[in-house]
Amino acid sequence: MSEFELIRDFFADIGPVRADVALGVGDDCALLTVPPAHELAVSLDALVAGIHFFPDCDPAAIGHKSLAVGLSDLAAMGAEPAWSTLALTLPAADRDWIGSFSAGFAALSARYGIRLIGGDTTRGPLSVTVQVHGLVPVGAAVRRNGARPGDLICVSGTLGDAGLALCGLLAGIEVEPALRQRLEYPTPRVELGLALRGLATAMIDLSDGLAGDLGHILTASGVGAELDLARLPLSLPVAEVIEQTDDWSLPLSSGDDYELCFCVPPGRFDAVQSLAAELSCPVRAVGRIRAEPGLICRLPDGGILTINGAGYDHFAVQP
Ligand code: ADP
Ligand code: MG
Repeated sequence: MSEFELIRDFFADIGPVRADVALGVGDDCALLTVPPAHELAVSLDALVAGIHFFPDCDPAAIGHKSLAVGLSDLAAMGAEPAWSTLALTLPAADRDWIGSFSAGFAALSARYGIRLIGGDTTRGPLSVTVQVHGLVPVGAAVRRNGARPGDLICVSGTLGDAGLALCGLLAGIEVEPALRQRLEYPTPRVELGLALRGLATAMIDLSDGLAGDLGHILTASGVGAELDLARLPLSLPVAEVIEQTDDWSLPLSSGDDYELCFCVPPGRFDAVQSLAAELSCPVRAVGRIRAEPGLICRLPDGGILTINGAGYDHFAVQP
């Protein structure tokens, strides 16, 4: 199978046909129209075999996740998904593997109306890089720098599930399917992110753990925060681990949750709750922004948890 057959058979028609794509896969460049009074929100993520996923991971899951992480970034800005590009480095042109990868990528593309408009295909160690492009009315994007003292800190979904699944897989323990799904098929909170435009003062998606990612909001906004750990939304298995070990690192510093963390003035919280109910997306207030810098984590017994090493950092520990 030649490179061009591979592109034609698996990547030329992914996602819905969109009027804003004048030219998609097949020429030297794609030609795209940004609607008047909109900004283009752009984000890129690389997933490398052995670092971001197990080399023998189901290729459909790799296809799904490589797009999901970008969609989660768009959600965190309140941007509407429009287009994607895909750089694929493959050790071999294995039709079964590529077909399954492409199906996973296509299913998520269809769900969010995002069209694959180009890419690059090379031979080499397995890695997948996806760029996403989203649209947002000028000035409406929700950035990290708008949190103000008194704002409630909210999170969607539950925290630490993907981290627990990863611990299980690394330890060679059977991982229950619902947890494994959270690691391999994360659901980007696109609808919630869009609905929070005009409500949230600051927002980020949780890819490296709540403590570290909230820390980015605090730094960008020049504020501090207090988290009430008793209020963290936890699945039963994660709650059990904490119960047994007194260790809060799963919800605070494990990666791959792809939930949204955002800040809202208390007066807007009712509005947030009703739209969360409308979207069937659980949202929980878990703390408050303070003027004093630093992050305080209040334990259920009233004590304070000291955090060292918040979040995953690829360069923090040299291999
Ligand atoms: P060029 O040599 O001009 O860079 P390529 O041969 O790399 O062109 O790609 C041919 C066309 O196929 C281009 O439109 C490119 O965007 C598209 N393409 C290549 N690889 C992929 C891929 N993995 N997914 C989607 N489109 C791709
Ligand atoms: Mg090329």
